[in-house]
Amino acid sequence: MNSPAAVAVSNHDEIGVSQVSLPPETLDRVARVLERGQLAQGPEVAELESLAAQMAGTSHAIAVSNGTVSLQLALAALRLRPGGEVVTSPFTFAGTLNAILNAGLRVRFADIAEDFLVDPVDVARQINAETVAIMPVHLFGLPCDMTTLCELARSQALAVVEDAAQAHGATWKGRPVGGFGTGSFSLYATKNITSGEGGLITTDDDDLARRLRTLRNQGMRGRYEFESIGTNARLTDVQAAIAIPQLNRLAELIVRRQENARMLTEGLSGLEGIACPKRADDPGHVFHQYTIRVTEASGTDRDSLVEHLGTAGIRAGVYYPRAAYDYEVYRSHPQVLAEPCPNAERAANEVVSIPVHPALSAADLDRVIAAIHSAVRSGR
Ligand SMILES: *Cc1c(COP(=O)(O)O)cnc(C)c1O
Repeated sequence: MNSPAAVAVSNHDEIGVSQVSLPPETLDRVARVLERGQLAQGPEVAELESLAAQMAGTSHAIAVSNGTVSLQLALAALRLRPGGEVVTSPFTFAGTLNAILNAGLRVRFADIAEDFLVDPVDVARQINAETVAIMPVHLFGLPCDMTTLCELARSQALAVVEDAAQAHGATWKGRPVGGFGTGSFSLYATKNITSGEGGLITTDDDDLARRLRTLRNQGMRGRYEFESIGTNARLTDVQAAIAIPQLNRLAELIVRRQENARMLTEGLSGLEGIACPKRADDPGHVFHQYTIRVTEASGTDRDSLVEHLGTAGIRAGVYYPRAAYDYEVYRSHPQVLAEPCPNAERAANEVVSIPVHPALSAADLDRVIAAIHSAVRSGR
């Protein structure tokens, strides 16, 4: 069997903004699944679900085929009033919106704060008689203020669905995300824990968990006992076997990301016009991305910096280049209530995510820091 280094796709000169690097025990585990011959949902999925429930501190986790479907099924299983409004962040991936729209609900945006997360003050302002749920997004691995958001939801009798696609193991005041409301995680290839494609829903609600297991399996409660209209949203045992070893090492993977973030903050502090992430020292931040703002004082701009890094062999990511509503398909959609969110639009012009993943060496981090210094110095 090959060494784990053979699994990690790495190019000597290129530093990627994300990198798949699987623990060495992954190959044996996947090989055992292939030998067993049960490729669809089976014992590996059950083991993954038990680890995911531990991660979120919930009594149940339900594995599904991806993180968009997990959000959509969470909304469906909650049986919210059709056409009701879900308040969420405009600074997120399209999957957040698509899940809400596909669940037959409407989306209303609350603007973000300086930390890139939806601002609870604006969430409160956007809640109205049509609101049925709030969907905070723990963007870049940073947990939202769940104390305030849960209190708001409780006082208005709203559901909370956490989009924790980027926040495996993140904690708010010591409590893991995914357990404050109904939790949703993605296992896509670039996420902190991956199975290539995959998703997880976490909950303490026994009945909700049962409905979710039914929904993902054609609405069947038992064999050919149809209880509702369902779908096929199952994960395979092969996929679960890829993710389990990473979940077993979650704590270690988080510490590596946090240590890398600390080095980046140290290396970039005091650099004119470059704003390091807010709450970078929050012990609950799991740094899916390390996202800086490039402001005018830097003498350069975001797009020039990305280009400069590219010529230095460093891949940076722009998450996200526009506010989520700022596309014709969404703007003109009858289920989208798109009012301008100035903070999200400013962030979209200023942000760049630089490499922070666990496979980086100290030398890689030095190269990233040096390239940013040189871009700012030369005004490129
Ligand atoms: C990745 C992601 C999703 C969707 O997950 P998929 O597994 O790609 O479907 C949803 N929301 C956010 C914030 C994400 O980053």
